[in-house]
Amino acid sequence: MISGPSGAGKGTVIALLRRRLGGLSLAVSATTRAPRPGEVDGREYHFMTRDEFEREVAAGAFLEWVEYSGALYGTLRREVEDKLARGDDVLLEIELRGARAVRRAMPEAVLVFIAPPSLDELGRRLRGRGTESDEAVARRLEIAAGELAAADEFDHVVVNDDAERAAAELAAIISEERKED
Ligand code: ADP
Ligand code: 5GP
Repeated sequence: MISGPSGAGKGTVIALLRRRLGGLSLAVSATTRAPRPGEVDGREYHFMTRDEFEREVAAGAFLEWVEYSGALYGTLRREVEDKLARGDDVLLEIELRGARAVRRAMPEAVLVFIAPPSLDELGRRLRGRGTESDEAVARRLEIAAGELAAADEFDHVVVNDDAERAAAELAAIISEERKED
């Protein structure tokens, strides 16, 4: 499980990680937020209306789901189970409350926190990404302050100073955890 504040570089580091290490599948979450330019349905997320999402909740399709910054996000059980059944390790890229819920449901999960070098740098990255309004960036920074305080609940903390270095550290963590299984 890869968690950490929005803008810390989770997506960037995960993409670099997957070039370094095989046998990893990314569980595609469902969300009600609007796709960003370049995002493709079924690749970054399963984009759903609130009605569709709530029907999946009622059907018990989610391992966990949360409301985050005005939208719903959730991990679909089928995304995780199908990939584990194929023998892959499954990566979940989810926020803090979801990570805690998955840890309760699957205690064997390994939790990695991706931290920005500082809150100032996080603000620069979020603004630099250019995908959120000023107001949405401010909201994400407020949430981030609370999330950073929870880093010590995680099995590993990786500071994303340089993305390639962080990806190499994450690859080493996963290789080590695989040996322990
Ligand atoms: P997250 O998935 O955690 O929300 P992203 O991967 O989208 O974060 O990264 C947020 C922004 O920061 C992007 O514009 C990305 O290119 C940039 N970024 C990611 N890692 C680094 C880094 N190590 N140094 C500088 N910028 C980075
Ligand atoms: P974004 O809108 O930037 O893609 O994601 C916002 C936040 O939602 C990020 O912290 C991301 O990790 C988290 N997130 C994405 N998918 C899920 C999910 O399925 N469950 C939970 N709990 N959080 C998610």
